[in-house]
Amino acid sequence: MNIVLLGPPGAGKGTVAALLKKELGVPHISTGDIFRENIKNGTELGKKVQGIMASGGLVPDEVTIEMVRDRLSKDDTAQGYILDGFPRTIAQAEALCTIDDIDRVINFVLDEEEIVKRLSGRRLCKSTGRIYHIVSNPPKKEGIDDETGEPLIQRDDDKPEAIRHRLEVYRKDTAPLIGFYTEKGLITDIDASVSPEEVLASVLAALKA
Ligand code: AMP
Repeated sequence: MNIVLLGPPGAGKGTVAALLKKELGVPHISTGDIFRENIKNGTELGKKVQGIMASGGLVPDEVTIEMVRDRLSKDDTAQGYILDGFPRTIAQAEALCTIDDIDRVINFVLDEEEIVKRLSGRRLCKSTGRIYHIVSNPPKKEGIDDETGEPLIQRDDDKPEAIRHRLEVYRKDTAPLIGFYTEKGLITDIDASVSPEEVLASVLAALKA
């Protein structure tokens, strides 16, 4: 099954995708993770996108679409996949239609106040990608990863100015995808304000329906 997770930044798409991947046994493809991996490894792509990502803007469509086209051509996607963070623009959604058929789009619904709270409190372990929240999911020792003992970091794009920009970009470029996929009869809205396990249960129910 080919699934798209849609929704504003901070709605928990990445967390739920990791749980969903275990349930369905299909790859979780996060364009944000692929870009971050490229930045970490100092690749040409990483150098190109670093500044854009830090400011909370969008990487150009051509670059993102080609990267996803390449990723979806890999053998591990034969039984399906979970796309997280792609598409983010109408141009990307139109390109995706030419690459593959999507079976279901899950729209994570969460109000802006809660989004800002979640993003500004998010911390992560750079080497493992493990995610914490200073209030709702704190590490055992403040600022330190529970398993590796490494200091936790805040993503540049989780800082206040970048959060504001990401929300503007979401409203302008990504929210129109709700209409795009509603017209195609593919979308299911999910309340993303509850725990990841409860969101997962709603997503699984939507996929069965
Ligand atoms: P995410 O981890 O999904 O919040 O993505 C982090 C950042 O990566 C975004 O703010 C963008 O700068 C970039 N990015 C991720 N996915 C896309 C996409 N589909 N199109 C353009 N830029 C993207």
